[in-house]
Amino acid sequence: MAFIWSRSVDWDSDDWRDKAACKDTDPDLFFPVGTTGQALEQIAAAKAVCMSCEARGLCLEFAMATNQESGVWGGASEEERRKLRKEWLARQRRNAATA
Ligand code: SF4
Repeated sequence: MAFIWSRSVDWDSDDWRDKAACKDTDPDLFFPVGTTGQALEQIAAAKAVCMSCEARGLCLEFAMATNQESGVWGGASEEERRKLRKEWLARQRRNAATA
């Protein structure tokens, strides 16, 4: 089955990054090692930054579209994004089928 991907993000333009609440934050905060212990605290701290971010929606969309597997993006952890991406891909397929 052919899969036609309708881009929802124009990643030639990264204007949303200018609005990122994390742009002056240590990037390591958003890329914890593991999913237990101290990493859980790090994930929570990163997500707290995301909750105040103007670019959260676009950041999450970018992460979905480019299949970012690591780190916290758009207020979602790796595990959360894996689940969200299944829904995102299903939506892309539905949109392609009705286009
Ligand atoms: S949503 Fe989070 S990871 Fe994305 S730009 Fe904003 S602060 Fe950074």
